Amino acid sequence: MTNFEFENNPIFVLNKIFGYKKFKGKQEEIIESIIKGQDTLVLMPTGGGKSLCYQIPALCLNGVAIVVSPLISLMQDQVNKLKSVGIKAEFLNSTLNYKEEKRIVSSILENDVDLIYVSPEKLNSTNFLQILDKSKISLFAIDEAHCISQWGHEFRPEYTNFKILKQRYPQTPIIALTATADKITRQDIIKNLGIKNCATFISSFDRPNINYSINIKLDEKKQLLNFLTEKHQKDSGIIYCISRKRVEIFSNFLNENGFNAYPYHAGLDKLTRKKNQNIFIQQNNAIMVATIAFGMGIDKPNVRFVAHMDLPKSIESYYQQTGRAGRDGKDSDAWLLYGLGDFVQLKNFINTSQANEKQKKIEIQKLNNLLGFVESPNCRRKILLNYFDEPYYFKCQNCDNCSDPPTTYDATIDAQKVLSCIYRINKNNMNFGIRHIIDILLGKDTAKINHFYHYELPTYGIGKNKDEFEWQSIIRQLIIAQYIEVNPTHLTLKLTPKANRVLKGRIKIQLKKEVLKSSEKYKKNNKTKTNKSCNFSDDKDYLLFNKLKLLRTQIAKEIKMPTYVVFHDKTLFEIVIKKPKTIEELSLVSGIGSHKLKKFGNDILNTINS
Ligand code: ADP
Ligand code: ZN
Repeated sequence: MTNFEFENNPIFVLNKIFGYKKFKGKQEEIIESIIKGQDTLVLMPTGGGKSLCYQIPALCLNGVAIVVSPLISLMQDQVNKLKSVGIKAEFLNSTLNYKEEKRIVSSILENDVDLIYVSPEKLNSTNFLQILDKSKISLFAIDEAHCISQWGHEFRPEYTNFKILKQRYPQTPIIALTATADKITRQDIIKNLGIKNCATFISSFDRPNINYSINIKLDEKKQLLNFLTEKHQKDSGIIYCISRKRVEIFSNFLNENGFNAYPYHAGLDKLTRKKNQNIFIQQNNAIMVATIAFGMGIDKPNVRFVAHMDLPKSIESYYQQTGRAGRDGKDSDAWLLYGLGDFVQLKNFINTSQANEKQKKIEIQKLNNLLGFVESPNCRRKILLNYFDEPYYFKCQNCDNCSDPPTTYDATIDAQKVLSCIYRINKNNMNFGIRHIIDILLGKDTAKINHFYHYELPTYGIGKNKDEFEWQSIIRQLIIAQYIEVNPTHLTLKLTPKANRVLKGRIKIQLKKEVLKSSEKYKKNNKTKTNKSCNFSDDKDYLLFNKLKLLRTQIAKEIKMPTYVVFHDKTLFEIVIKKPKTIEELSLVSGIGSHKLKKFGNDILNTINS
């Protein structure tokens, strides 16, 4: 075990080892629950502080804590961070050689390590379980526990065998942690881990510092450039794309336009991926253009925006990916662009995937939920939170629909125009795409219209009161409401049986009036808090802050860690304000534990005195 004098006391561990003053949210109750030996389920949003919930009990309890984490690439980061505060932690996965593995296994057997991070494959192996049989285990922590559930959005078959833990080690507490889980996923976690009497802690999933904004794809490159130049000229952020090809396109495009962008996708070799990830973590203005292969477990506090160039596949994915913005609590943006093509492509992915029918149904349902969200005229935050079963009764004033409420109107006649146009041109078993239908409505003179004599249709030219953009929006909404079906291969449109009722005038249709969001609309809402935490009234303070930052960079280089692992900006800010004169005074600053105090305390005091 790591040799700290105050091992059994969570608050001491928090203060002296991690250097934090107070527990965040429900951390204290969760830690107590685990220390009592209670199985525990923790739902906490990204950035909520889940790691400490098992790391502190791991130090307070006797024995080795086994932490399962799905991504090998991130175990190393976690372990490095723990080592940087003087805790004995290691990881076990397929990247280790025989000698290293042997050394770590001995440390488990001798109870000479506090935390071991393992891959799910490792935890499933009989060999490893036999080692655990002979060791003193303090707890099992199952990170990203939603991977257990088929209903969850990142199902992993390796996660389904963990029931054996409770059967084999009934006395050892299990803590399952996740940032995204609706009711069904939660039930699945409890069932599949066999922890039906667990204590459940659900924190609010609200991320008030994130501004949500969702836009229709028009000229995607230009829209992205506008968004970045107006709001994030020198910031770090993540841009998600649906395919490797699009990752390359947008990362090249941004570099050509003077941004510091790096690609990340499974088609790049391991070394390049690792290199790009490190640059992203270390630099303050790096943009990662990535497929969803990137991001799980990345703990970079100053990600100022997460942009989606394409639709994600579910509300869970969207919430999890956007959750990577603003972990430091400062204003951040979640910005998404989507078009009808995305929807069709995703649906096609699902239909042609290897998954069984039940799984496909679940995924289609999730995609439909997401579409309901992006098309909704209501507060984005409210929809997100309600989706995760959290009541929210307000308008957040920090999303596009709150700052710029869209209007809805009686669109029955417009809908009838579109539907009857499709009905007429499909009569001879010929199907056409959205473009052609809009051309007919607008009464255009195109080769296709002439070829098929479509200028003779009664619907020819009946939509001249609206422009192309408005008709696109109407048709998209009718597709989402399932009055129209899109053929995924040919992108042609067909009526669904439901459409009949609209054509016969039996139901009224209410649609959102789509207006182009001009770049004007990106301007900040006055009501959002701006974070002034790093504004100094005194130039000298500003100078000291910069000197401390320089010191931090030197230390980071020396110990080969990202700067924020050394100290957060918040910690430096507090040092500038308090200007501690002694080591004792310095120890009271949030973010400086005994280990860092001993190692860097004098350097910090010297910088202040200089
Ligand atoms: P999660 O895994 O829930 O996304 P982390 O465990 O990575 O969150 O914690 C997010 C950030 O909050 C980290 O930078 C962590 O150091 C910080 N943090 C956690 N607990 C506290 C606390 N009690 N006081 C101050 N900062 C904390
Ligand atoms: Zn809102």
